[in-house]
Amino acid sequence: MGPRSVTDVDSRNELVRLARSLHQRGFTRGTSGNLSVRVAGGMLVTPTNVSLGELRTDDLAMVSDAGEHLSGGRPSKEAFLHLAMYRARPQDHAAAHVHSTYATALSCLDDVDDDDVLPPLTAYFVMRVGRLVRLPYFAPGDHGLGETAERAAVSSRALLLANHGPIVSAPSLAQAVDAVEEVEETARLFFLLQGHAIRPLQPAQIAHLCAGRA
Ligand code: ZN
Repeated sequence: MGPRSVTDVDSRNELVRLARSLHQRGFTRGTSGNLSVRVAGGMLVTPTNVSLGELRTDDLAMVSDAGEHLSGGRPSKEAFLHLAMYRARPQDHAAAHVHSTYATALSCLDDVDDDDVLPPLTAYFVMRVGRLVRLPYFAPGDHGLGETAERAAVSSRALLLANHGPIVSAPSLAQAVDAVEEVEETARLFFLLQGHAIRPLQPAQIAHLCAGRA
């Protein structure tokens, strides 16, 4: 590969900064969680078996659109999931996946609407996430998850993998990280509110938010 472009260096620095920030604030534990950014020739993705809190720019893996490891550290075993999001959503250029506690707890519930898992509790959830769709359970390493995620991501950028955790894609890495945090915080609110009568945002209020975003 030739010298790294300015964009590539910026992407690497931002990936490392936001990965550390997610880890320091408890959104990832151990070596779980992975982030990616689309760059010329494929994507930069966080490596396997490295804590997001300890990441260095040279650890990042470069992976082609076909899933081939081109350079850097060994890519996350969940890199295929990021590629599936990008195939479905050409408008998005970054993705964030975590095993955060409340969102993962939500992913294990029996009696929720898989097509719309969380109610519209706050304006920020509506604006940053929209609709959270739950996918069926797949064992780690089962690439069948890639096809299922790709189909679902066409109509929703926020997916909740059953008994596992959320992945969100967005136009920028900052937006993807914001959105995955919003999923976690809204899942936390959802559990705090169990047993209470909830007043979610109403359709007219949601329409107003979506009109403001357009
Ligand atoms: Zn995972």
